[in-house]
Amino acid sequence: MKLNVVIPCYNEEEVLRETNCQLTELVDSMIKENLLTECDILYVDDGSNDKTWNVIEELQARSPYVHGLKLAHNVGHQNALWAGLEQSVGRCDAVVTIDADLQHDIQKIRDMILAYQDGYEIVYGVRNTRATDSKFKKQTALAFYKMMRKMGVDLIPNHADFRLLGKSALQALSDFPERNLFLRGMVRLLGFKETNVYFDCNERFAGKSKYTPKKMFAFAMDGITSFSVQPLRIITLIGLLCLGISIAEIIYILVAYFQGRTIQGWASLLFSMWFLGGLLLFSIGVVGEYIGKIYKEVKRRPRYIIEKQI
Ligand code: UDP
Ligand code: MG
Repeated sequence: MKLNVVIPCYNEEEVLRETNCQLTELVDSMIKENLLTECDILYVDDGSNDKTWNVIEELQARSPYVHGLKLAHNVGHQNALWAGLEQSVGRCDAVVTIDADLQHDIQKIRDMILAYQDGYEIVYGVRNTRATDSKFKKQTALAFYKMMRKMGVDLIPNHADFRLLGKSALQALSDFPERNLFLRGMVRLLGFKETNVYFDCNERFAGKSKYTPKKMFAFAMDGITSFSVQPLRIITLIGLLCLGISIAEIIYILVAYFQGRTIQGWASLLFSMWFLGGLLLFSIGVVGEYIGKIYKEVKRRPRYIIEKQI
């Protein structure tokens, strides 16, 4: 079988040589064991402004496995992955995506291939612990997975973008025309036979994390807004709650009025505040429901995915 490995790189000049060295060693041994017949290692330079591309060129000149794709500007991890995946459609039996910084255990690619050969179309790399993460990253990641589950988005906890896709899964994924990518959620929609491979996450080999807090936040927002209309529904619910309160309020106001415990203007003011507030929120929620529908329509996601045909 032929394997493609897609590695997004943003300012990774310090790590690429080592990554390539370890990958090449692994690929060599897998070819020797007849696990693979061929392999392409595709480095996607996501608009780096250091020497990343020069390093890729240098590696390409020396190794038969190495290929490079240089994006004209920084489009972010998910888009860089997509670029590499698109290049792989129809050109391999399986594709593995992995980070450049050696945090993902390269050796586990072998287990992924074995799982693929056992008939699994999708193999997720899942980290055992988050020991190497800062407390901040650990807490925010945990909160994120929890919130996503509440919003009805099906994710595999502690799985980042280290995964194997078989060619059918890759083909199916490439039929998703959406622009706001959240790959770990999209792959879950495919529904092919899938399994996990567990690995211990290492420290970054060199350099700093390329996910700044700003990028992390944008990524989380993308995840929520690309997969869930729950936030819109929450507005409707709050609106209904306010309307309910306003009804309780009017009963209370009427009682107070007839008991002569009110001052002029208080009753009408308080009631109209809650009632109008509730009505406004509820109306926005209803408009939101329609926007939610439009949002699902414009995504043009495939209605079904065929696994087999005989
Ligand atoms: N990356 C990318 N474009 C970006 C940011 C990151 O291609 O805009 C790549 C980066 O080079 C690495 C992977 O995405 O291969 C994961 O990034 P990083 O290791 O910095 O994130 P962390 O592990 O800290 O979450
Ligand atoms: Mg990393």
